[in-house]
Amino acid sequence: MRRRTLSSTSVVRSYNVAAVLQTLHRAGSCSRSELTELTRMSPSTVSRITAQLIKRGIIVEERLGTSTGGRPPVMLRLDYEKLYVIGVRLMRDTVSLGIFDLNGRPVRKISYAPYGWDPEFLIRELHERIDELLTDAGVRKRSHVLGVGLAVAGVVRSDDGTVVRSVNLGWRDVPVARMLEEALGLPVLVENDANAGALAEMWFGGAGDGGNVMYVKTDAGVGAGIVFEQQLVTGPRGMAGEIGHIPFVADGHPCRCGQRGCLETYVSMPDVLRRYAAAAGRSVDKQTFFDSAKKGDAAAVLLIEEAKSTLTLALTAAAAMLDLDQIIVDGVWGRFSPEFLSGVQAGVQQAMKRTGLDKQVAVQPSRLGEDSDLLGAVGLVTNRLFSPPDVLTAESGGIRRWAGQADA
Ligand SMILES: [Zn+2]
Repeated sequence: MRRRTLSSTSVVRSYNVAAVLQTLHRAGSCSRSELTELTRMSPSTVSRITAQLIKRGIIVEERLGTSTGGRPPVMLRLDYEKLYVIGVRLMRDTVSLGIFDLNGRPVRKISYAPYGWDPEFLIRELHERIDELLTDAGVRKRSHVLGVGLAVAGVVRSDDGTVVRSVNLGWRDVPVARMLEEALGLPVLVENDANAGALAEMWFGGAGDGGNVMYVKTDAGVGAGIVFEQQLVTGPRGMAGEIGHIPFVADGHPCRCGQRGCLETYVSMPDVLRRYAAAAGRSVDKQTFFDSAKKGDAAAVLLIEEAKSTLTLALTAAAAMLDLDQIIVDGVWGRFSPEFLSGVQAGVQQAMKRTGLDKQVAVQPSRLGEDSDLLGAVGLVTNRLFSPPDVLTAESGGIRRWAGQADA
């Protein structure tokens, strides 16, 4: 496999620069001597790197430190609003992209329908749109863009940025990260959309406090992303969290995969609406379906109960096997109603109690709202940039590879 090389203009070209940024991110603010201690670099390296970063406006100096009699030390902190990450999500018929600051606040967003899904063509168009977006957002310096995160539905090999298979896009073995890096001159990271969603929850949502968290996205399909103690668990083949086609109901409804009783067929909206049309004798859209259920329509209520009990079974199994503290449900069932999720939580809790697993598992909706998809992509870059140093220094998969260059 060809090693990914970067002709990146990004500021994070070296491991040392990244280490300084990470340390400032974790510490909030610190003096130069504290930075020297925490990064274990020489004082001259620290002062050279901080001088570069100050000149670029990426870190700022403040006199806020505690005085020990003399002048208070100069403290350094990241200027979060000067650093950007680009998030991209490739969906079945839409490309969404946005520029976010490092706090996850959107600066500019657009969505467009691409001319086609041929990878070469798509990358060329994406490149143009990203350039336009940067110009519109007034980001004049490419060096302030830390990287691009790409969220794709499908199986992704994230260490070399290849989409192994995406049914939605009709892609097989597309080295999309390398293609986009070569076009943009910026580091690009790719991840499955549910994994990206889990990272977004960790960095910007309700999963940042540690513990074991599973993020479940339910729309047309079902996918889950698992975060263990602040680390995304992808598995050796990128397949961890693929729970959609595990049968949870014996002799249940037939699923498009050929089995019966899969989680996906009970919670996927197209399947639920098809079953409603057969039972009620009329085809309705998602909103009408939920409105009918709220008015007590028996066929709709039954389908919602089925979705609730199957989701409860699946989440109970996951909570027991993975020792979860928290489950975040995003997508259609996460947004449907607070009663639905509290019903799921009560079911999970009851099963835990009966199996003697004496712990609380919180089942909650995502708090990230409409930006959650794009924030997932942004979370990829943030995660790589600010992961603990033991991961970053690993020769195989750390920031050396991501930065594509040796120490400055
Ligand atoms: Zn299935």
